[in-house]
Amino acid sequence: MHLQKMDSNLSIVVLEKDSTICGQQSGHNSNVLHAGIYYEPGSMKARFCVDGNRELAALCGEFGLPIVRCGKVIVANTNQEIQRLENLLSRGTSNGVPGLRILTKTELKEVEPNVRGEKALYAPHSAVVDYRKIANVYAEIFEGGGGQLLLNTEFLSASVADDGQKVATSEGLLTAKLVINCGGLQSDLIAKKMGSKPNIQIIPFRGEYYVFRPESRNLVNGLVYPVPDPSLPFLDVHLTPQVDGSVEAGPNAVLATMREGYAWKNFSARDFWQTLSYPGFWNLARKNLRAGVSEINRSLRKRIFVESLQKLVPVITADDLERGGAGVRAMAVDRRGNLVDDFYIEEEPGAIHVLNAPSPAATSSYMIGKHLAHKADANIKNARL
Ligand SMILES: Cc1cc2nc3c(=O)[nH]c(=O)nc-3n(C[C@H](O)[C@H](O)[C@H](O)COP(=O)(O)OP(=O)(O)OC[C@H]3O[C@@H](n4cnc5c(N)ncnc54)[C@H](O)[C@@H]3O)c2cc1C
Repeated sequence: MHLQKMDSNLSIVVLEKDSTICGQQSGHNSNVLHAGIYYEPGSMKARFCVDGNRELAALCGEFGLPIVRCGKVIVANTNQEIQRLENLLSRGTSNGVPGLRILTKTELKEVEPNVRGEKALYAPHSAVVDYRKIANVYAEIFEGGGGQLLLNTEFLSASVADDGQKVATSEGLLTAKLVINCGGLQSDLIAKKMGSKPNIQIIPFRGEYYVFRPESRNLVNGLVYPVPDPSLPFLDVHLTPQVDGSVEAGPNAVLATMREGYAWKNFSARDFWQTLSYPGFWNLARKNLRAGVSEINRSLRKRIFVESLQKLVPVITADDLERGGAGVRAMAVDRRGNLVDDFYIEEEPGAIHVLNAPSPAATSSYMIGKHLAHKADANIKNARL
C-alpha cells in the first residue's frame, strides 16, 4: 500500500497462500492497539508502536472501523512489581506514550472495581480494534490503487536471473525486481527457499484464550495486565475486552508442534522436527524449562489458568469462562536460544525478509509497511544503478 503510494508506476503483486487474507497471526491475535510502553526506547518496536497506534486510530476513524478506547491498567501488588511499574512509566514516557500515570489503590478501584492491585500504571491510549477489518481496508486501498492481490497462490521459490528474481508460485511463474518476504510463521523457510541463510529460526508458540460467558463480561471495563516478569519470555495472561463487547482471557504460550497449529491435535512431523533439530530451541528450552512445563500444565488444566487470572481479578471463577480460540506466535530464536527482541529485517539485493514481527506488530503494521516501502524503493533504485 505504501510502496504503491510512493511509486505508482510499480506493478506490485501480493501472494497469499490462503483463501482469505489475515488467516494466520494477524487474524488470531488479541486485537489490542498497544500504546508502546514496554519496548526499549529507540527500538523499532517502540517507534513503530507509538506512531502505529496513532495512525491506526486515525485509519479506523476515516474508514468507520470499530475502535474502543477502553484504556489499560498494568497492575502491581508487591514492592518489586511497584518498582517495575515505575520503570515502565519512565520507559513509556521516553517512548512518547501520551497520558501515562500511576494510579493509587483507590484510583484503581474507581477504574476497575474488581481488580486487585496496590498500584497500577494507566495507559489511556491503549485500545481494542478488529485487525481483520483493518487488513481488509489495507487490501482495499492497495487494490484500489492498482495492486494485485492473488489469494490461493503460494510462493514456492525464487532464484536470481538477469532480469530480476524468477519467482515460482503454485499458480505459475513471475518475474520481479524485488521480493518482500512477510511470511510470518513461514518467513525463515521462505528466506531459505530464496537462497538466504537467516541466522534465526521461527519457533511457533500457541497462545490459547478463554472467553468470558456473557453474564460475566462486566467483571472488567478495560484491558487488565500483570506487570511483566523480566525472567519470562512472554507477557503473562491478561484480560482483553473486544470491540463486540466480549471479553477474552489469555493468551498463554505453549510450544506448538505445527507452525500453523491452532490446537493440540494439529501436528506436523516436518515442522516439529525442524524445531527439535535446531540447537537454538534446546538452548531456549534449557533456560525456560520451568516456565515451559507450567505453561503445558496451565494449557491442559482450566483450574490453573483460572488461578493465574485470579491474581488480577480475585472474584473470577471457572464458571465465568469457557474455552476460546488460539493464535500462534512466530518467535525468531537465534542459535544460542535467545528470542530476538526487536523487529528484525534482513536485506540483500532483490530481497527483503521480515524475519521477526511479533507483538506489537499488528499495532505497528502501518509503520512497518512504511519502513519496508522506503527500503524497497531504495533496493529497486540501487539495482538500476
Ligand atoms: C496470540 C497472539 C496475540 C497477539 N496479540 C497482539 C495484539 O493484541 N496486538 C498487536 O499489535 N500484536 C499482537 N500479536 C502480534 C501480531 O498479531 C503479529 O505480530 C502480526 O500479526 C504478524 O503479522 P505478519 O504479517 O508478520 O504475519 P501473519 O499475519 O502470520 O501473515 C503472514 C501471511 O503470510 C502468508 N504466507 C506464509 N507463507 C506463504 C507462502 N509460502 N506463500 C504465500 N503466502 C504465505 C500466510 O498465509 C499469512 O497470511 C499477537 C500475536 C499472537 C499470535
